[in-house]
Amino acid sequence: MSLIQGLAAHAAGAELLPFKYDPGELGVHEVEIGITHCGVCHSDIHLISNDWGLSQYPFIPGHEIIGTITATGSGVHSLKMGQRVGLGWQSNSCGECEWCQRGLENLCPTAEATCVRRNGGYATRVRANARFVIRIPDALPSEQAAPLLCGGITVYSPMRDHGINPSSRVGIVGIGGLGHLAIQFARVFGAEVTAFSTSAAKESEARALGAHNFVNTRESKAMKEVAGTHDFILSTSNADQDWGVYINSLRPTGTLCFVGVPPSPVALQAFPLIAGIRSVTGSPIGSPNRMREMLDVAARHIITAKTECFPMAKANEAIEKVTKNKVRYRAVLAN
Ligand code: NAP
Ligand code: ZN
Repeated sequence: MSLIQGLAAHAAGAELLPFKYDPGELGVHEVEIGITHCGVCHSDIHLISNDWGLSQYPFIPGHEIIGTITATGSGVHSLKMGQRVGLGWQSNSCGECEWCQRGLENLCPTAEATCVRRNGGYATRVRANARFVIRIPDALPSEQAAPLLCGGITVYSPMRDHGINPSSRVGIVGIGGLGHLAIQFARVFGAEVTAFSTSAAKESEARALGAHNFVNTRESKAMKEVAGTHDFILSTSNADQDWGVYINSLRPTGTLCFVGVPPSPVALQAFPLIAGIRSVTGSPIGSPNRMREMLDVAARHIITAKTECFPMAKANEAIEKVTKNKVRYRAVLAN
């Protein structure tokens, strides 16, 4: 097998530099994907900066991958050469634990991530266990579908778990890569949707994506006005905020669910949780079965990412623009 070329971080927060690695023998249950597109998820930026203490350098980021199958291990029968497929955050699991057996592979204690201690999708090719490589419906164009592989599943899965339906009042905090997909999925579930954003300029686009209401979170008056109005608030923000204000904007029995990772511990008063039986929870990506379901829903209801495409070689430019919250709404790298 020839070397795989990509762009790697060699130290915390460093610019990505060209990097080649030898992928070794293809595993029996692995496939190799020739990458056409890879989204720039904010988790890549957390990994490059080692915000979570998980990163080992050098490594190639990227886990919103679309491409075609270029090699299959001898034990792979579900995928064929040339098929268009996607790969998200997770690239393997044990396959044997209670969670894998239940089809909740994203909860496997030994789950492997596509670009943690291995090399991901800002590259020419990538490998993964075939169970985590998902066929892409024909109706979805690759550039606009790549962000569904992590951003899309991460917002879709908790809305399914929490039974979002036409009677639900859903708030989406942070209208970035994840948030702009969350508005679209919440709308397809039939919910009344409120976008919470620090960026007043995003209001018209948030409404065009399907939000019924828009709250500028920098205006404390606007935040007070929505007190007690939401059943489910999904936070995709990667920044610290006054989370107590969001708890106050929940109806009794409502839930604040974190998918975005703020840097500081989440500080909350117990009393509003007690008085309204309100909950705080979180959610990690989604299982392969959920991903297939999400892609099917996206194809049938035409849910795609609004993208800004960059050539793979300009990954550093894309990362800088994402870091400054300037991308509308997902940067995608193309080979
Ligand atoms: P993104 O595209 O950069 O969007 C994040 C959004 O957060 C921004 O667009 C912005 O929205 C808001 N924000 C940014 N800076 C802010 C600030 N200083 N104060 C308040 N709001 C701010 O990021 P993403 O790719 O959607 O990822 C979001 C988070 O989800 C990251 O922490 C990422 O690691 C995490 N994530 C988690 C999972 C999981 O499995 N749970 C999966 C994927 C990603 P507004 O302009 O609208 O305020
Ligand atoms: Zn991601």
